[in-house]
Amino acid sequence: MDCLFCKIAAGDIPSEKVYEDEKVLVFRDIQPQAPTHLLAIPKTHIESPADITGENSGCVAHLFEVIARVAAEQGLEKGFRVVSNCGEDGQQSVPHLHFHILGGRQMAWPPG
Ligand code: AMP
Repeated sequence: MDCLFCKIAAGDIPSEKVYEDEKVLVFRDIQPQAPTHLLAIPKTHIESPADITGENSGCVAHLFEVIARVAAEQGLEKGFRVVSNCGEDGQQSVPHLHFHILGGRQMAWPPG
């Protein structure tokens, strides 16, 4: 499948890995929008948050356990933001489910 994040998950495209196990990968965003900007992905291909189902949500639950652990390891005890852009209106640019983990600065709300 011609998917950028599937290729990163497979190791065919290099990434700066922060955490990896058999189900998920966390790596640094190539264009960081905050002092800490990580992307957390399932290794299995799920296109977007709109495609999470009862059959594939197990890896998503696991991903959130990993996000909590990685955020603590990265020193984000003051807080952080988890964002998943979905589809055209959500400005998703890579069609493989991913959660941005942003931290190390004060976030604005609401987002633009
Ligand atoms: P989104 O626009 O929400 O789909 O997020 C996609 C993110 O992937 C953006 O923040 C990009 O900077 C990031 N990105 C694109 N290509 C790479 C790459 N090769 N390695 C790391 N991050 C990437």
